[in-house]
Amino acid sequence: MKHLFTEKVVPVELDNPAIQIDYDKCIKCGLCKRTCDNDIAVAGRFNLEETGDVAICIHCGQCAVACPVGAITQVEDYQKVKEAINDPEKIVIFNTAPAVRVALGEEFGYEVGSYVEDKMVAALRKLGGEYVFDVTFGADMTIMEEANELVDRIINKSENLPQFTSCCPSWVKYVETFYPEFIPNLSTTKSPIGIQGAAIKTYFAKEANIDPAKIVNVTITPCTSKKYEISRPEMNSSSKYNNIEGLRDNDYILTTKELAKWIREEDIDFEALEGSNFDDLMGQGSGAGIIFGNSGGVMEAAVRTAYHVLTGERPTKELLDFKPVRGLEGVKEATLQIEDKVIKVAAVQTTNNAEALMEKIKSGEVDYQFVEVMTCKGGCIGGAGQPKQPKKKVT
Ligand code: SF4
Repeated sequence: MKHLFTEKVVPVELDNPAIQIDYDKCIKCGLCKRTCDNDIAVAGRFNLEETGDVAICIHCGQCAVACPVGAITQVEDYQKVKEAINDPEKIVIFNTAPAVRVALGEEFGYEVGSYVEDKMVAALRKLGGEYVFDVTFGADMTIMEEANELVDRIINKSENLPQFTSCCPSWVKYVETFYPEFIPNLSTTKSPIGIQGAAIKTYFAKEANIDPAKIVNVTITPCTSKKYEISRPEMNSSSKYNNIEGLRDNDYILTTKELAKWIREEDIDFEALEGSNFDDLMGQGSGAGIIFGNSGGVMEAAVRTAYHVLTGERPTKELLDFKPVRGLEGVKEATLQIEDKVIKVAAVQTTNNAEALMEKIKSGEVDYQFVEVMTCKGGCIGGAGQPKQPKKKVT
């Protein structure tokens, strides 16, 4: 059998923005392929003869996490951000995704789960960021859009139900590649970084009286796939708005691991940093935005907002009572009643589990109005750009 990741068909040869491979280091253990096959359901889903020797990659980076010898690694961009910081003509703005503020501490010896938001913001200022914003601001905008879209589809009995979440770029590429008939079911709402990037180079630039062409927008995420997402051709709304050719809404994505490496290289004593707060305007978000990092979080936030849109009331805590779906691993579902409407929702971890659910949706065996899919186990907190969890001791 062909060893997918060590022959000429390795995804990196597609000019992969998320991962890269050093063939000399590869020991041909096959762990990368097993992960891609078992958890992500990509390696086993295409045939090289049919694709003309072109490998398909959805950029989740989980192969890099599985690789025990560092042959597959994530693409790093922080040197380019350093160059921008040293360029007096540029204004570097940092944004941080919800899952980073917890995982970053683990890289600096804090207990797993420690909340280091203030030190993270201080580190980004020390590295040269002129503004530091919180992606939960963008997440709140995503929720409002996505919830209203859901309400609209339900009220108008859209044929494109269930609505699928669209904030995981690997899931979006998975649907585009393997289930193109479901593309109309994907929410048309941009992800939090997609919305925030555009808002920074339009609304914020105007409010702060900054030439958007000078802004270098950098977001720290748990995710390697966001490097791919920002490179998609349609992520350039600020270019059209400002009439500046070639302007991108987001310029660079750095992962949590990459940020930790950069902080170390600059000899910044993370623990000794005096905490700092996000900047105003895009430095605040709600609890709904924060839970985006967990599997089921996007859906919960959107459904609660949809409830409010439909009833004008605040949802109770018990609104969503998720239960595992029998016979489907990594899938949980809930049924809720909003006025006269019964709404069935599901949240799925990993594209492999999503594949099984998609087949049931296609056959009509299950029927949902809203489905959240996150490619990584546990959601974005398990993204490939997060620090590796220490192995548990076997006693
Ligand atoms: Fe990225 Fe989150 Fe999707 Fe993983 S689940 S690929 S971390 S957006």
